[in-house]
Amino acid sequence: MTQPSDKALVPFVSVDNMMRLTHHVGVEQMLRDLADYIEADFKRWELFDKTPRVASHSDVGVIELMPTSDGEAYGFKYVNGHPKNTSEGLQTVTAFGLLADVYTGYPVLLTEMTILTALRTAATSAMVAKYLAPKGAHTMAMIGNGAQSEFQTLAMKSICGIDAVRLYDIDPAASEKCATNLAGLGVDVTICKTPEQAIEGAQILTTCTADKQCATILTDNMVGSGVHINAIGGDCPGKTELAAAILNRSDVFVEYPPQTRIEGEIQQMGADFAVTELWEVILGRKPGRTGERQITLFDSVGFAIEDFSALRYIRDRIAGTGFFVDLDMLADPDDPRDLFGMVQRAQV
Ligand code: NAD
Repeated sequence: MTQPSDKALVPFVSVDNMMRLTHHVGVEQMLRDLADYIEADFKRWELFDKTPRVASHSDVGVIELMPTSDGEAYGFKYVNGHPKNTSEGLQTVTAFGLLADVYTGYPVLLTEMTILTALRTAATSAMVAKYLAPKGAHTMAMIGNGAQSEFQTLAMKSICGIDAVRLYDIDPAASEKCATNLAGLGVDVTICKTPEQAIEGAQILTTCTADKQCATILTDNMVGSGVHINAIGGDCPGKTELAAAILNRSDVFVEYPPQTRIEGEIQQMGADFAVTELWEVILGRKPGRTGERQITLFDSVGFAIEDFSALRYIRDRIAGTGFFVDLDMLADPDDPRDLFGMVQRAQV
């Protein structure tokens, strides 16, 4: 992989540069690119190191580390989840991440990942929906209109071809914000007063709410046959969005079962509850959608390989651009054993 430069500088993508890069590439193009990188890594799923993320819980939120490696590169993301933050003017989810060269152990990229997480989560949702959503799906219900919602909508538009979104949030201001942001972006937007109204006529139901409890955003009687549910918000122990009865009527697809059984909607079910791993569907080893009346459910929690794919994409995409600065974050003396001498020589 990348050889360390003489000065061992590490490219750093700030929030500002991530926004500039996103505009340079175009949001929808970036979502499609990320979906391609994620899909490519799902196809090589077996060669990755995999572990459920390492979570540190508190009464108000969680801080997590998400590591993985494909043997050539190693990546991790630091991410928090604090549903109470919004009321204090702070983000629910913030993140940064690092990619390193397995051969030298040297970092090759440090980047903001708050925006990148929203992009990669949306790209993953749409990449999965491409396999599972009913053919010709054109309308999505978007329940929870916070930070992730516009990204989710645009990914479903760009990758799955939806042209209408029906918004619902317990806070009408969130739906107004989402509708305003999506204006003119090629999706017909309807703000709804109830979740029932939002799912009317929708083939894809996305739940993306933040609440540190087992909530019931969708009840069993709200979900008709033939839909695809993209359940994003239930991603922590004690935090779910769907009535258990919905899971019993659905075919449930997951990223990495050992993590999803702790964090996902299926934490409500027994340890032997049947799920299908998405990488096997993508490789054609297991069926995805098999019938028009089938309810497919992506029990999304967000897995380290998706972040690794996003880090790979950013590393590749910033090469030769001005969308990063070099950070002097690695002490790298000319004589590797003369670390102390290097410190001494720095004395003015
Ligand atoms: P956010 O706080 O910006 O938005 C959440 C929205 O949900 C808010 O507008 C809130 O009013 C709304 N909400 C809360 N309870 C509701 C209810 N009962 N009905 C309707 N709306 C309700 O959060 P965000 O950054 O958009 O993230 C949303 C959730 O997605 C979080 O729980 C986060 O942890 C999760 N998430 C998952 C992944 C993944 O990979 N699966 C990635 C990122 C975020």
